[in-house]
Amino acid sequence: MPTLQDILSTMDYGPSPESADVAQAWLSSRKRRFGHFIDGAWVAGARHFDSVNPANGEVLAAIAQGDARVVDRAVLAATAALPAWQALGGHGRAKFLYALARALQKNARLFAVLDTLDNGKAIRETRDADVPLAVRHFYHHAGWAQLLAREMPGHEALGVVGQIVPWNFPLLMLAWKVAPALACGNTVVFKPAEQTSLTALLFAETCQEVGLPAGVFNLVCGDGAVGQAITAHEGIAKIAFTGSTEVGRLIRQATAGSGKKLSLELGGKSPYLVFADADLDAAVEGIVESIWFNQGEVCCAGSRLLVHEGTAPTLLAKLKARMAKIRVGDPLDKSTDMGALVDRTQWQRVNGFVERARAEGAEVFQACATELPAGEHCYFPPTLVTGVDTASEIVQQEVFGPVLTVQTFRTPAEAVELANNTRFGLAACVWSESITLALDVAPRLKAGVVWVNTANQLDAACGFGGVRESGYGREGGREGLREYLKPIAVTAVKPAKTAKASKPVVEATLVPADPNAIDRTAKLYIGGKQVRPDGGYSREVWAGKTLLGLVPEGNRKDIRNAVEAARAAAGWERTSAHARAQVLFYLAENLQAQRARFVELLTPFSSAAAAADEVQAAVERLFDFAAWADKYDGAVHQPPMHGVTLALHEAVGNIAVIAGDEAPLLGLIALIAPAIAMGNRVVAVPSSRQPLVAAELYPVLETSDVPGGVVNLVTGDPDALADTLAAHAEVDALWWPAATPEQCRKVEALSVSNLKRTWVGAGAAAALGDPRTLLEQAVQVKNVWVPYGV
Ligand code: NDP
Repeated sequence: MPTLQDILSTMDYGPSPESADVAQAWLSSRKRRFGHFIDGAWVAGARHFDSVNPANGEVLAAIAQGDARVVDRAVLAATAALPAWQALGGHGRAKFLYALARALQKNARLFAVLDTLDNGKAIRETRDADVPLAVRHFYHHAGWAQLLAREMPGHEALGVVGQIVPWNFPLLMLAWKVAPALACGNTVVFKPAEQTSLTALLFAETCQEVGLPAGVFNLVCGDGAVGQAITAHEGIAKIAFTGSTEVGRLIRQATAGSGKKLSLELGGKSPYLVFADADLDAAVEGIVESIWFNQGEVCCAGSRLLVHEGTAPTLLAKLKARMAKIRVGDPLDKSTDMGALVDRTQWQRVNGFVERARAEGAEVFQACATELPAGEHCYFPPTLVTGVDTASEIVQQEVFGPVLTVQTFRTPAEAVELANNTRFGLAACVWSESITLALDVAPRLKAGVVWVNTANQLDAACGFGGVRESGYGREGGREGLREYLKPIAVTAVKPAKTAKASKPVVEATLVPADPNAIDRTAKLYIGGKQVRPDGGYSREVWAGKTLLGLVPEGNRKDIRNAVEAARAAAGWERTSAHARAQVLFYLAENLQAQRARFVELLTPFSSAAAAADEVQAAVERLFDFAAWADKYDGAVHQPPMHGVTLALHEAVGNIAVIAGDEAPLLGLIALIAPAIAMGNRVVAVPSSRQPLVAAELYPVLETSDVPGGVVNLVTGDPDALADTLAAHAEVDALWWPAATPEQCRKVEALSVSNLKRTWVGAGAAAALGDPRTLLEQAVQVKNVWVPYGV
């Protein structure tokens, strides 16, 4: 008589196919030929390309290839639709988003099967993850549309937004982009990836079905050329892009100086840290979820396993055993874990990485429970690569496939160092049974999302997005909503009287306005010290016909030193918010004490009364941000999982700020104060018209307990210094609200070096408006998912 164990060991999965009949019938009823969807109607394409099922090579449909003319037509329709869509108000739009959520839910299975046919991903995942999450996004944002006016006062929609997505989550990416855009009152021109247009086409039909006003959602199909045309279109106010870092860079460059708002959700190389005290069985399931979900074609996939040295043998043995149970095969079979990669090109790319690693001496382990078909196909088995080091190509580059590399560490510090040793910063997983260890490590990881003892959790209420070369901007959550809004314009500050521009001279001595005064040579302020400029040049500061003095002409090397000093002051970020607030209050107190001197310096540029007002406003601004320092908190979300998500406001890092010529003191303080209030370090270029106010700030900073390197001031030619700062790899953000369109274009184009965040050209008044606008710029939201007994 066989034992239960014997019976269980002989049991296997039988085929459990999901029927594709309804999806095939839908395709056939549309004659397997699709145009674009513009202004609520279908527009026939001039040329078409095939959409192919990567699991079996079947041509599913012919998809129209758009071009700049079609994009133009879509933008015109979206522009025309804007007034009525906005006039509907939040409640009116909420009803449409709700209707879309209901319609998606009603057709959930059709959407799931179509995504599976088109992309090759397993039906188990499209059915249980992609579609439910897309539905959740529309419900969640129906709620935001309803609440918008009350919850986001002083903000308005941007206009027409262009949205470009990749092929790995066709419907989900659409939902992430379209739902918040529409909720905020924007209209959309959307481009799916050429490999996976089908669910976007079905979504367009759904828009018709629910009676969404014509022109609110427009769909232009096609390849990267369509993406380029959307990016370049002057009628578009924002580009929301998800895709590779390489294309993200091209888009940043193409939009530089255009005034378009930009969010970039780019690639990743996310670490998966397993500490010695982790629950290893759970960690193994987490790895499966992290790197073998969606065939590893996931931007936030945990593709680098970092495991404690002593734990590695046990963990790898468990992992290999688990890999052998993963079922790779027909994506429509409900017992399939991993389907096909999106196409043969992607298969070759993934395989290329693995073969090059093997050639370099790495060990490659591949296993799964099923036999892959012979010959050319798009299936790739779960793959584990050991014997690699930090410099290996496969450890540094995004593979975007089911490939996991393994490295070991001895101490938490080494784990963090390895984890952060990448140009990306999208996500990270931390596995440890010690809450102290896990929550000590999480803030040290350079990542926009951290999962503690879980993996790949996503929810509409929780922002998702990266840092560093994984891009900027968030999708989901309140922060995701802000990507589709702008502050309602504030009135410009009254410009002061114009004065002769400063110009560089050869001598480096100060010419005092008062002939009896003792000569003082203004210096730069770097690392908490007054230092001489590298070049030995100074620039004259004139007020009308009076030469007020000289300030140093900072150069590239001075900027380099200032950024280095800012980097060394990173500990400021870990100073408590209470302590930062105290420093800001103290700065205000000391500025107030020097009031007379600042009034004296500012008076030649306006009047004594205006100068006194400006000093007073600067003191108040310092008080504002001292007040906000310990109040601009994040949030705790309660997503539908067994846990909570901490949306933490983290400092961005080193922020370069360039003050405009209006209100030289207030304009400078207005930029420095929010940045340091949130824990950033600043390299500031003061107003070129009255830089002497900056020199006068040095003693104020010195006596206010501002740690050396937290604020660095480099006087000189703003144009030249801004270029150096924009190109600098250690500068994380650049603010220049008073920049002209040409200055914006230059610095935004240079910012591609490390994909730094830019806030430029908003107008000098923007820096003096609602403090929250600046605070938003001063933080990036890190979402930490933590198990919690709810
Ligand atoms: P690509 O960057 O190649 O393409 C993304 C989209 O941009 C596609 O629709 C593509 O069109 C379009 N496109 C291509 N060239 C241009 C251009 N010059 N201007 C404007 N649009 C253009 O990425 P993949 O499609 O190969 O997707 C994989 C990448 O996406 C991975 O690197 C992955 O990490 C990243 N990704 C990031 C996510 C995140 O949230 N951070 C989420 C998902 C993926 P077409 O392909 O039709 O030619």
